Amino acid sequence: MIEQLIQVGRQIVRAGIARGWAGSLSCRCQGKIVVTRSGADLDALTEMDFVHINPRGSQLQSRLPKPSSELGLHLGAYAADLDIKAVIHAHPPQAVGVGLLGRSLPALTPTFYRHLGASVPLLPYIAPTTENLKTAVALAFQSTTAVLLQNHGVVVVGQSASQALLRLTLLEEQAEIYLAALAAGNPRPLSEADMQALDEAWGVKRET
Ligand SMILES: [Zn+2]
Repeated sequence: MIEQLIQVGRQIVRAGIARGWAGSLSCRCQGKIVVTRSGADLDALTEMDFVHINPRGSQLQSRLPKPSSELGLHLGAYAADLDIKAVIHAHPPQAVGVGLLGRSLPALTPTFYRHLGASVPLLPYIAPTTENLKTAVALAFQSTTAVLLQNHGVVVVGQSASQALLRLTLLEEQAEIYLAALAAGNPRPLSEADMQALDEAWGVKRET
């Protein structure tokens, strides 16, 4: 799975979703969490850029490198749901822009709804790297697969690295559309009835 994260790092930098030095990636497998080191270049990750952590947050290797300063975000997400196997934290510009407006990102298209649900919620600003942010993320991921961190970035999870990547890519693309639509007028997100109709068409039973 580390190999998949290396590919994800390269793809999100090349797609303009992340800068090489800002953000962090992790996966959970075989009872431990593997996270990028502090200061790792996401565009050129190697196995040496990953730090092995036990689920309580202590480092399994005593020597350097240090894990990402945002390790708490990752641990918070994994604590929320055992099905979460991969976490991406990044600062995608369009999604950050939506958060600056104090808005969550509503489902704009059926594709968004299928992969990200009825909306991507906004967590009001909390200082990075703090225990408070970890706690807020842990709470949020009990009922979502992605979250906007106001004045900061996003956290996206998946049952695999590729699912987290798909969600992040879609989130940033939809944020760009939403900002353009807000600048031009009053965008219409999918309605509750639209989403119910999609559930029926797809044979999905949604928890309310
Ligand atoms: Zn960050």
